[in-house]
Amino acid sequence: MVSSLLTLPSTFSRLNSFPKPSLLIPFTFKALNSLKSHKQQRLIPLNHPLLYFPSSFNSSPTHFSTSRSPISSKSFDDDLVVLGIETSCDDTAAAIVRGNGEILSQVVSSQADLLARYGGVAPKMAEEAHSQVIDQVVQDTLDKAGLTGKELSAVAVTIGPGLSLCLRVGVQKARRVAGNFNLPIISVHHMEAHALVARLIEKELQFPFLALLISGGHNLLVLAHDLGHYTQLGTTIDDAIGEAFDKTAKWLGLDMRKSGGPAVEQLAQEGDAESVRFSIPMKQHKDCNFSYAGLKTQVKLAIASRNIDAKVPLLCASSQERSSRADIAASFQRVAVLHLEERCERAVEWALKIEPSIKQLVVSGGVASNQYVRARLDQVVKKYSLQLVCPPPNLCTDNGVMVAWTGIENFRVGRYDPPPPANDPDDFMYDLRPRWPLGEEYAEGRSESRFLRSARVHSSLTSIVQASLQQQ
Ligand code: ADP
Ligand code: MG
Repeated sequence: MVSSLLTLPSTFSRLNSFPKPSLLIPFTFKALNSLKSHKQQRLIPLNHPLLYFPSSFNSSPTHFSTSRSPISSKSFDDDLVVLGIETSCDDTAAAIVRGNGEILSQVVSSQADLLARYGGVAPKMAEEAHSQVIDQVVQDTLDKAGLTGKELSAVAVTIGPGLSLCLRVGVQKARRVAGNFNLPIISVHHMEAHALVARLIEKELQFPFLALLISGGHNLLVLAHDLGHYTQLGTTIDDAIGEAFDKTAKWLGLDMRKSGGPAVEQLAQEGDAESVRFSIPMKQHKDCNFSYAGLKTQVKLAIASRNIDAKVPLLCASSQERSSRADIAASFQRVAVLHLEERCERAVEWALKIEPSIKQLVVSGGVASNQYVRARLDQVVKKYSLQLVCPPPNLCTDNGVMVAWTGIENFRVGRYDPPPPANDPDDFMYDLRPRWPLGEEYAEGRSESRFLRSARVHSSLTSIVQASLQQQ
């Protein structure tokens, strides 16, 4: 037994070292050997949670079990070191996080220049940009943490939702690192990561909680019952709020190099938010869904009617034209956020009926960096004596920390896959989930106004996790 132990790869022997056998799950060397000898194996879908945690050395050598019980002890958390990789859209990001929440390093390579040039994300160009920088981003992340791949415990990577071409770059890299260093790999849902990163910064944040996830591609209101268990209270029927911020910035001729949202937020501070009377979307629909396509059109029309020329950069605009642009920015932001407020208020009421113990509203995703959004939503939650939890701006926009942390949360309960082979064959089919709902829809909240953009490609994360738990 001792000699077998000595031959374990360092990653697993480090995880072996935590001392509270009572917390651990039965383990066998058979399982570990299968882990070490996984050659030419496909990425096992998330519906096969596997546990390879070592237990006390005298446990039955043939026992192999799956379980939900979280493993969390001080030394386990201190020893666990996870690399997270994120490439779902236009940011190439990586980070290394310790199980106790310590961020050892993080690197983001943004494609803001491409965004500024094309006014949106072009998948093929985004893929190329990811491919050019991914190796460097991961290397810099390791260097900043002062670690080598050998010292990692696992690799977490976003497999969806997002652009397939872009997701593929991250997954390929993650599998290469995991394969080279014989590390388990954890498939991460991008939106779960946006929500869970709040638990890294707010240690008091327990399940259940309500989350509003607002970014360039998503507008989601979810009730987080537990890890991997979410009820979707609302989503967007067309565009997300971040997309509306980005287009407003583009049409107003703002500097998009830090993405459109921050530029609109900044200009809005100079404007009169009551000056342009945009109407609030979907007021007549008493549900928690969102729509920003109509507001975008209203903004476009307002800009056209004031003869604003987006080709003239803001810095070159006359003071009168600058104030006209600022009025539109402020009025747009006010109404875009009023829509959030109205939906959040209803969502809090629904959530309190379903899970009366909720105490927090988490607001995350790129748009949650916006100070006006935070201040207004803080007013909403105060009415219900709830607490608003927003990650710092660099953890709201896409980042590797949220992926590494979500990897840690899932790893602790055994939801991960064994190490991939060192090299995937050329025709390897990656498990990518570009359209991947986080939770099942709340039946009472289904809106008649909704039309799903297209058929779902994948079952929701929640249904996969719940089905696999029932099989145990
Ligand atoms: P993705 O949509 O790819 O998941 P993020 O979660 O990083 O990306 O969100 C990016 C979106 O957040 C962009 O639409 C950007 O304009 C928006 N955003 C970032 N900062 C702000 C801000 N301060 N105010 C409003 N929107 C913002
Ligand atoms: Mg995002």
